[in-house]
Amino acid sequence: MSALLELENVSRHYAVSGGLLGLRHGLVRAVDGVSLTVDAGASLGLVGESGCGKSTLARCILGLEQLEGGAIRFQGRDITDWPQTELRRQMQMVFQDPYSSLNPRMSVGAIVAEPLTIHGLGTAAERKAKTLALLRTVGLDTDMARRYPHQLSGGQRQRVAVARALALSPALVVCDEPVSALDVSIQAQVLLLLQDLRTRLGLTYLFISHDLAVVGQICDRIAVMYLGRVVELGPAETLINDPRHPYTRVLLSAVPVPDPGHKRNRENLTGELPSPLNPPSGCPFHPRCPQVMDICRHEFPQAFSTGEARLAHCWLHKPA
Ligand code: ADP
Ligand code: MG
Repeated sequence: MSALLELENVSRHYAVSGGLLGLRHGLVRAVDGVSLTVDAGASLGLVGESGCGKSTLARCILGLEQLEGGAIRFQGRDITDWPQTELRRQMQMVFQDPYSSLNPRMSVGAIVAEPLTIHGLGTAAERKAKTLALLRTVGLDTDMARRYPHQLSGGQRQRVAVARALALSPALVVCDEPVSALDVSIQAQVLLLLQDLRTRLGLTYLFISHDLAVVGQICDRIAVMYLGRVVELGPAETLINDPRHPYTRVLLSAVPVPDPGHKRNRENLTGELPSPLNPPSGCPFHPRCPQVMDICRHEFPQAFSTGEARLAHCWLHKPA
């Protein structure tokens, strides 16, 4: 496998003003020095609490944000060197809320065909045939083409959003919380669909969720984010069965275990997620970390190896 997407030390900060008359200025470190790779055909999960920078990172990858630092390469080429229309074609996005991401005035057929129309692909008849084929691919009846978003269930709407994302045969599909707005039973169906599409069509996913259980179902590697930083990275199975970063353990202890005989020490988070506006010094997790050491307050650790293909940014794993 070769790297389809490479992120090197990517940062995106926002200058914000607040307080009385907006005079108090600060810097939100939404994404702060993130390095990651996604291989062609792989599925990388990006997980972390709300506000940790997942969507900002997705927008950076799609070329929608100006970086403060670092570089993003797609198919070996810096994304700023890609023609925008070509990058739009190669990377597609599925959003959390299919209701607001689908135009209510357009029929399902027109929504799915829109990327083909915009990019001027095929004749009208070819676009229609392709649209119907896409609806079948995502498990929808072709009669759906004449309906409108408000006539569909949440799960059906998300299938339409997936069909639209696949219309241009993208090399990368970025899914940002694609099942978070759905009922649990529907979540499972949409996850199965995404999994099935990945194997059938050889898709590559960057799959974003605040829910580690969801990410564990669909991804082969997982990156755990905390306050703009990746703190742990590794194969999904070993990362979930044997988390090495104290923050990953805390995230996991919030996931329900189906086996009632299974005992797990619950590690509860103390304190709120600190603001990425002026984040804590050193390791940003240190104020909430049950294993905090003095060095953690002063210096963010580099990535230390914690096993095969595994990394943790945590001083506990500094080689002796
Ligand atoms: P997530 O997707 O993990 O919930 P986001 O990437 O949406 O997190 O946000 C990360 C942080 O950046 C949050 O604190 C958010 O308030 C802040 N942020 C995101 N976009 C902007 C913006 N345009 N201006 C200022 N702050 C922003
Ligand atoms: Mg988000």
